Amino acid sequence: MSDTLLENFSDDEVEAVLAHELGHVQMLHVWKILGFSTAAALISFYLAYLLFARVTAALNFSEISDIAGFPLLAIVLMILGLAFIPVQNSYLRRLEKKADIFAAQHIDSPNSFISAMTKLAEQNLADPNPERWEELLFYDHPPISKRLRYVTTKNNKG
Ligand SMILES: [Zn+2]
Repeated sequence: MSDTLLENFSDDEVEAVLAHELGHVQMLHVWKILGFSTAAALISFYLAYLLFARVTAALNFSEISDIAGFPLLAIVLMILGLAFIPVQNSYLRRLEKKADIFAAQHIDSPNSFISAMTKLAEQNLADPNPERWEELLFYDHPPISKRLRYVTTKNNKG
C-alpha cells in the first residue's frame, strides 16, 4: 500500500489490490519464493562447481581454491544467474496469477480489479500485450491482458 494508491484509486480499487496482496500472504508466497530462491542458489552453486572444476583444469589453475580463478568463478556465477532468470520469472508469474484469482474470488466484482490493474499499467507504462518471448524472459508478473483475463474467467468464482 502506498500514498499514491490511496490518493488515486477508489476504495473498491484499493480493496482489489489489497485482496491480491492478501492472496500472497494466505498462500504463503513469501516462504515459497524463499524456498525457490534457496533451491536455485544451491543448484547454481553446484553447476558452477561442476563447470568451474573443468575450466580451472583447462586454464592451468592449481585447484578450485586458486584465487587467480576467482574472476572466472564470478563470471560463471553471473552467467548461471542470467540463465536462471526466465525460470524464476516463470515461477513468479505463476504465483501472481494465483494471487489474482484469489483476489477475484474475494471481491464483489472483477470491475474494481480491472480498473485498478488498468490504472497501474498506465502509471507504469506497461505493455498490455508484450511478445511471448519478452514475457518469458523479462516479466515477473503476467502481462495486464492476461491478468484481466484471470479475474474475468467465470470458473474463478466460487
Ligand atoms: Zn502480486
